[in-house]
Amino acid sequence: MNNHIFGRSTKGEMPVAAKGDGCYLIDSDGRRYLDGSGGAAVSCLGHSNAAVRAALHAQIDHLAFAHTGFFTSEPAETLADRLIENAPEGIDRVYLVSGGSEAVEAAIKLARQYFLEIGQPGRHRVIARRQSYHGNTLGALAAGGNAWRRTQFAPLLADTTHISPCYEYRDRRDDETQEAYGLRVANELETEILRLGPETVMAFMAEPVVGATAGAVPAVPGYLKRIREICDRYGVLLILDEVMCGMGRTGHLFACQEDGVAPDMITIAKGLGAGYQPIGALLTSRGIFDAIATGTGFFQHGHTYMGHAMAASAANAVLGEILDGGLLGRVRAQGDKLDAALRAEFGQHAHIGDIRGRGLFRGVELVADRETKETFDPKRCIAARIKKEAFAAGLICYPMSGTIDGQQGDHVLLAPPFIIEDAQIDELVGKLSTAVERAIAP
Ligand code: PMP
Repeated sequence: MNNHIFGRSTKGEMPVAAKGDGCYLIDSDGRRYLDGSGGAAVSCLGHSNAAVRAALHAQIDHLAFAHTGFFTSEPAETLADRLIENAPEGIDRVYLVSGGSEAVEAAIKLARQYFLEIGQPGRHRVIARRQSYHGNTLGALAAGGNAWRRTQFAPLLADTTHISPCYEYRDRRDDETQEAYGLRVANELETEILRLGPETVMAFMAEPVVGATAGAVPAVPGYLKRIREICDRYGVLLILDEVMCGMGRTGHLFACQEDGVAPDMITIAKGLGAGYQPIGALLTSRGIFDAIATGTGFFQHGHTYMGHAMAASAANAVLGEILDGGLLGRVRAQGDKLDAALRAEFGQHAHIGDIRGRGLFRGVELVADRETKETFDPKRCIAARIKKEAFAAGLICYPMSGTIDGQQGDHVLLAPPFIIEDAQIDELVGKLSTAVERAIAP
């Protein structure tokens, strides 16, 4: 086992990452790996971005850290302003933390404090979806619906309930339109709120495009709008977790902008620091902020490294690259090419059931039988084998085995850097194809 990681690889033997070069990572033996998933949808600018490196060099000469109990800082204020300027309607304040789980924890605690401030102390429950991942700290883990991740820690988890995901490939009935399907699954939220008692429910949390647990599964058009209506009807806050799908990954700075939905809170991380610094953020509406400001006067929460000047300066440079460097348009254009290349390679493949996603956030789902959508026997560990074979071929991708109601099989998540070139898209799909063939070979 590696000395500083408790057994992430099967035998604890891992190459040593030594250098980054655009869309590639290079190990200490000089081997190059195309980063087809940006790690876990992190490295949206690739690994050697000049603007972010320059920003970090400049920042360290001025200020590395000043505790937020005493100071704010110029990079943190600039970042908050720029995020708010580009956020969905109603988003008005930013709370800077160090990663995705911290952002989700903050969202849950802010929701709770908000309801105390406005005199609704009975509201404490979160409703989320079975097909979801919201982080590994205890609050975030409780919100997530992934049974495998939760089981060991179940006695430690707050009581969260989970409704169905919006998972068209497996759940939409043949006689149902997309719209009717979206309404049917969204309406489960209303049923669940009524079952629990609206006066006990504080928030509904969901990823607009589901990442790690499902492999880039977008909601069908209209689903999130219906969810918004239901939340409004029962005074429940809508928290959208964009830790993976936000920051331009889908071709919009925030994925929910494509759905035309304005949530009460949004969590982001990963692409915000693009791997150059650990940073996450909770964005919140004016109403929630005002309730705290005019009530207790402060959010009873905090972490030592929140609002870190180095992290914020990296994020400012990342945002600058995305917004001023025309990367949102590029994500849409290269995303369409990636989608076309995946469909050309796998569209008729006997063991690829679904190809999906938005922008440079794409997933393929593997099946034993395309007609029946039967999954591979979990004992064959198809996802783990794809990861291994892809890595051996010089490709980093993000395969996972689903465990949703026992009906979801293996998938591969792709989230390459926004700077990916056409030839690298071909390289990615070619290497993925090699890995899939080797993994499914009897
Ligand atoms: N939410 C979502 C949607 C995520 O994908 C992740 C990370 N995979 C998290 C939260 C947790 O983020 P972190 O690992 O930075 O704590």
